[in-house]
Amino acid sequence: TRPTAAIIGAGIAGLACARVLDEAGWRVTLFEKSRGPGGRMTSRSLAAATVDIGAQFFSVRHEAFRREAETWLKAGLIAPWPWKLWRVTNDSWHYRHDGRERYAGKPRMSAVTRHLSRGLALEVSCRIVSLARDNGRWTLQDQARQHHGPFDHVVITAPSPQAQGLVAPHDSRLAEACEGVIQRPCWAAWACFDQPLATAPGVSPDWQAVMFSDGPLRFVARNDHKPGREQQGESLTLLARLEWSEAHLEMHETSVANSLLTAFRKTLPDTTALPAITAIGGHRWRYAQPDVFAAGEAINRDYRLSANGLALCGDGWRGPRVEDAWLSGHHLGHALAASD
Ligand code: FAD
Repeated sequence: TRPTAAIIGAGIAGLACARVLDEAGWRVTLFEKSRGPGGRMTSRSLAAATVDIGAQFFSVRHEAFRREAETWLKAGLIAPWPWKLWRVTNDSWHYRHDGRERYAGKPRMSAVTRHLSRGLALEVSCRIVSLARDNGRWTLQDQARQHHGPFDHVVITAPSPQAQGLVAPHDSRLAEACEGVIQRPCWAAWACFDQPLATAPGVSPDWQAVMFSDGPLRFVARNDHKPGREQQGESLTLLARLEWSEAHLEMHETSVANSLLTAFRKTLPDTTALPAITAIGGHRWRYAQPDVFAAGEAINRDYRLSANGLALCGDGWRGPRVEDAWLSGHHLGHALAASD
């Protein structure tokens, strides 16, 4: 009989793990609390524009991920972006060229995760609240008290504070490991305009993204300058610095968006007026980015496995990037398939 696995979370880590197990002949079911796959690689469709509200791009460093990214590139799911990247230090803009390979989803970040989920069994709007073990197999219970299973294995990709609650009754070693991985919050905001933005002096009008060395912002992306979105109007995603996000965690989303837009406006000459805003909003990511320095023992471990069929993966076990999350799920999938 084919081994069975439940995977909690259909972000890039869960999907990468599911693909490996599916190819190895396992029967895999993904459970996702949101309405669709993607996790922190998600995009929001507004009337005026489609904006990425989580990851804006991803870099490619590891060979296994490079091979995977090449298949996405060939399938038209990603394209190089940004290649016109700037940095703002003390409100002044500088062109930044570091030659690093970066990609964005085409025509939105979630194109990649949507593609990976194709053909897999996926239960959406299904938040798993507890696990039970009976006769050596696992049953999952969701928020509506529905039971799912039994399964031989359960893979949990939820950020560590959430994973901890699920594993604690069953494996104190895994629960303890979760405690060492701190996930820090990040505010993401968006603003759409009725006209293109004016640019700072010396900055090419087709700038795509800008990193910030100081202040409340850490990154601003122009969604309408991303691949496949050239037809949409001017629309910014503004990401706050982690420290600023922590200090303003309970602020209202519209106030957050306005504060971040004001910080961006300050980098333009005083005489520049912003065009009229057609949409503005924000999203608080409570568990946005793992603090790998705090992770101690977890640094450079891709995943955690227990003897009774529980396993943990996701960016928290490896590093703060899409690539880390993918590698973490991919490597766990291979470890599970080899153990069978
Ligand atoms: P997630 O994507 O969080 O997936 C976990 C999934 O589990 C989620 O879909 C969640 O809904 C689901 N879930 C949780 N609990 C349950 C439950 N109980 N039951 C069912 N489902 C559950 N990385 C880069 O490389 N480049 C960037 O530019 C970049 N920018 C970022 C900007 C922001 C604002 C954020 C938040 C992140 C950014 N990252 C970036 C990081 C990157 O997005 C993540 O590292 C990666 O997407 C994490 O993938 P994951 O599968 O580990 O976790």
